[in-house]
Amino acid sequence: MKRREELTFWERIYLPEVLKGLAVTNYHFFRNLTLHIAHAMGLAKAERAAATVAYPDERKVYPDHYRGSHRLTLREDGAVRCTSCFLCATACPAQCIYIEAGESPDPHVEKYPVRYEIDTLRCIYCGLCVEACPCDAIRMDTYVHPRIWGFDRKDFVETKEVLMHRSRVLAEKGRDGNMQEMLEWYREQEREVYNPERPELKTYTERGRPQHLRPAPAPEELPAVDRHHVAPGGK
Ligand code: SF4
Ligand code: SF4
Repeated sequence: MKRREELTFWERIYLPEVLKGLAVTNYHFFRNLTLHIAHAMGLAKAERAAATVAYPDERKVYPDHYRGSHRLTLREDGAVRCTSCFLCATACPAQCIYIEAGESPDPHVEKYPVRYEIDTLRCIYCGLCVEACPCDAIRMDTYVHPRIWGFDRKDFVETKEVLMHRSRVLAEKGRDGNMQEMLEWYREQEREVYNPERPELKTYTERGRPQHLRPAPAPEELPAVDRHHVAPGGK
C-alpha cells in the first residue's frame, strides 16, 4: 500500500478511483446480464456467466480439505476412542468443549467420556482440539458444515452421540452420505416444525418462527383499550 505522500494528485482526490471501481462493477453486471439473457435464448453457451448459489436449496461442492464439523472416532468394537484426558478441552481457546469423565467398562482403559459436548456456537473451528488429542479420538474430516439453524442454544450443542454417529455414517456411507444425511435431517426438521397438522408442535413453531412470519393475534385477543380513562393530571 502506498503512503499518503506517494499518492499522485488524482489518487489523492479519490474521484477517478471511485469511477474506476464503478466501471469494473458495471462491466461485470452488464456482462453477466447479457450472458444470462443469451443463455436463456440458447446462445453463447460456452461463455460462463457468474451465478450466485441459491443457498440452502443449492450447495457448492466443498473442497476435499473442508473441515466443518467434529466427530469422535470409534474403536473396532464401536466404542468411543476418547479416554477423557481433557487435553482437547484444555487446548480449546473458545472453551466450548465440555467433558464428564467416568470409569471405563473396558478393564484396559481407565476412563471414558460419560458426556462429551461441543458448543458449536462458541467454536471457532481452529482445529486445536484435533491437534491436542494424543489418541486420534477427535477429527474434523467430516465434510459437513456446522449446523446452520436452530431455535435454542441447546440445538447447537453437539453431544457425544451426535459426534459418534457422524463417524458411523462416514464409515458406512462416505463423505457424501454424511452430507446427504445432514441435509435430509434439515428437511425433516423443517417439515416437522412448520407442519400445521401437528398442533402439539405449535408452541415450538411459534417460538421458532421469525416475528414477521407469525400470524397476527385475533382481534378478541387484543387487550381492550379504555378510551374513557383519563390519566392523573388530565394527560
Ligand atoms: S475447533 Fe477450536 S474452538 Fe472448536 S472445539 Fe476445537 S479447539 Fe475448540
Ligand atoms: S478427544 Fe482426545 S484429547 Fe479430548 S479428551 Fe478425548 S482423548 Fe483427550
